[in-house]
Amino acid sequence: MNMAGFRAFAAQVRDPRLLATRRRTALRKCLERFAPYGHRATWHHLCTRAGIAPQDRDPDPARLLAALAELEEARTLWLAYEAECVARRRREKRDGIRQPGALDAWHRRTWGGCEIVPCAAPHRHPAAPLAAVLRTVIAAMESGRPRNDCPVCGSPRFRPLTDTDRRAAGPVCADCGVITPAALLTRDTLAAARREAPGAGTVAPAGATAGPGARFGASMAA
Ligand SMILES: [Zn+2]
Repeated sequence: MNMAGFRAFAAQVRDPRLLATRRRTALRKCLERFAPYGHRATWHHLCTRAGIAPQDRDPDPARLLAALAELEEARTLWLAYEAECVARRRREKRDGIRQPGALDAWHRRTWGGCEIVPCAAPHRHPAAPLAAVLRTVIAAMESGRPRNDCPVCGSPRFRPLTDTDRRAAGPVCADCGVITPAALLTRDTLAAARREAPGAGTVAPAGATAGPGARFGASMAA
């Protein structure tokens, strides 16, 4: 993971001397370094929230800056979490209480910040800001308590991934579209998800994620 790369591309997104199309390309390059939902879903998410048409080659630079700000907020949060994990691991090793578990497997998969909360389809992702979603997923993983609902939107409905190669990662939330780590869910919930028809890979309009987003807000306040 090239961390200096992210900062260099972020500086290009901010550079008013560059054409909007160059600044847009630089923002896409940032996503090669940090993309919590995966490259395509994160791009679609940022464009939706900042009001950029995903195919617009010449977007309003102010909107590019808004998208970058959201991405950087999430990245700062994630890098702080990684640093905290490294420090904790070191402490536990020193005290001889280190016990690798589900959290380690998740860290191995997500380290560096790409596909932390992968989405099954690029057009289906939570509507809430990236940093808020990361915060709830981190809290859910850290709690270590298996649950019956999606940690992002609270939905109890899951489906198996259409993509059988990735199916072991976990089922797809039928409402917000994130692949929920299997380690987070109870055995009953996983079994129920396996009985559903594979899916959530269908393209839904961006507005379809507004409902789960609204519930997300409510669950944060609780
Ligand atoms: Zn969900």
